[in-house]
Amino acid sequence: MNADAFVIGAGVAGLAAAVRLAQHDRRVVVFEARGTSGGRATSFDDRQGGPPLDNGQHALMGCYHETLAFLAAIGSRDLVRVQPALSVSVVDTSGARSTLSCPSWPSPFQMLAGVARWEAVPLAERVQLLRMAPALWRARQVVATGRGDLPARDDETVRQWLTRHGQGARLTALLWEPLAVAALNQGIDAASARPFVRVLGQVFGPGRDDASIALVTRPLIDVVGRPAERFLSARGSRVVCHALARVELDGSQAVRIVLRDAAPVELHGRPVIVAVPWHALPQVMAGDTTRVGPVLAAAAATRPVSIVSVNLWFDRQVLDVPMLGIEGRSFQWAFAREGYVSLVMSGADAIVRERSDTITALALADLRHAVPAARAQAPTRTMAIREPRATFSLRADQPARPDTATAVANLLLASDWVETGLPATIEGAAVAGRRAAEHILSPR
Ligand SMILES: Cc1cc2nc3c(=O)[nH]c(=O)nc-3n(C[C@H](O)[C@H](O)[C@H](O)COP(=O)(O)OP(=O)(O)OC[C@H]3O[C@@H](n4cnc5c(N)ncnc54)[C@H](O)[C@@H]3O)c2cc1C
Repeated sequence: MNADAFVIGAGVAGLAAAVRLAQHDRRVVVFEARGTSGGRATSFDDRQGGPPLDNGQHALMGCYHETLAFLAAIGSRDLVRVQPALSVSVVDTSGARSTLSCPSWPSPFQMLAGVARWEAVPLAERVQLLRMAPALWRARQVVATGRGDLPARDDETVRQWLTRHGQGARLTALLWEPLAVAALNQGIDAASARPFVRVLGQVFGPGRDDASIALVTRPLIDVVGRPAERFLSARGSRVVCHALARVELDGSQAVRIVLRDAAPVELHGRPVIVAVPWHALPQVMAGDTTRVGPVLAAAAATRPVSIVSVNLWFDRQVLDVPMLGIEGRSFQWAFAREGYVSLVMSGADAIVRERSDTITALALADLRHAVPAARAQAPTRTMAIREPRATFSLRADQPARPDTATAVANLLLASDWVETGLPATIEGAAVAGRRAAEHILSPR
């Protein structure tokens, strides 16, 4: 097959790797098992004929620099709306709504100013934000320079870290916890502090909109998968869908790609980037896998965390803000989409196997608690979407994540699971993809 490099998996990581290589005139073939690109950041056809529906609402941030650069390269950056400055509305357990609204100032002053006037948080706690400032500054330096150690202990959870840095109960419940759960997809008593502190280092980066929330204005497939495919095919590269692939190793080399429905591809030393999620890695590697044995064992031992989304259609608009945090309920966020509201429950393992009507009733109750306009309305249509393996667990007891390079010469790894220091996010996947491509472009 006529190509300089191969990628297995057309999620954000695989596509970002392929795009980077294509930008440097390498011809790349991406094999994707499913019928569409985008992986976990994708959409499916709406059987009722509406626009494609996302497999789950994705929220990006202004500090997703790698992601935004990737989208700019493939021509879809305009389909992401980044807030000029962080503004986030939250409904508390009593049903009262408040908004953290930050001025467009450099970080961390924008957050200090926003929190200083946020009346939902007691004054004493607003002042306590200052106790976190040295750690935030340090995290920002580590992220910016790539040097030094993050100010977090290996074995502490996010909650322990927040407590150690003097953050009070209300600020934690209304700001840090929703932010952490959205970024980590795991409760703050379970997730390790380290990836969260790295995220904070990015969120409080030098860019004025680093802390801003960014939402796609179109279905994800139009933002990620399709434009990436178009970009690649315009440069002599391509994504081959319905191509379930395995990589055969002979010990020191990846020798061929075996495809379920097509002739194998002999690699003859050409590089292959495996960009599948952690749980698929053991099935992708075949032959003498001794050298990648530790990575495969780590992948097999890594636990998944689920996300459940519920879409509720109404015949009028019930949510008046793009997104709304909901404190202390099952679903943490509600997003206003075209014609429907999408409610998201991160860390949803306790409910992911429940019946759809049970899940939907819970989502509707949470929406009605948070949004008075939804109380008198019955949804005209409902849909529960389960992603049982949405992300990998960030508990401190989980196996170490792998590097980009492996002990097999022409085999590289990319996916959000690769050790970027970031949680399982689009940004982590984009960074991992770019790094894998860099290994090929400038071999060390
Ligand atoms: C419901 C949901 C909500 C999320 N919300 C957010 C959010 O708000 N913000 C955020 O930043 N992130 C969010 N994420 C996480 C984000 O989607 C992922 O971190 C990211 O998309 C992972 O990309 P990836 O390329 O590493 O892996 P994937 O997207 O999983 O891509 C891997 C690809 O490999 C393919 N594949 C697997 N095995 C084979 C094989 N043998 N042969 C060929 N192809 C194969 C798969 O089909 C898949 O397309 C969310 C995820 C989910 C599921």
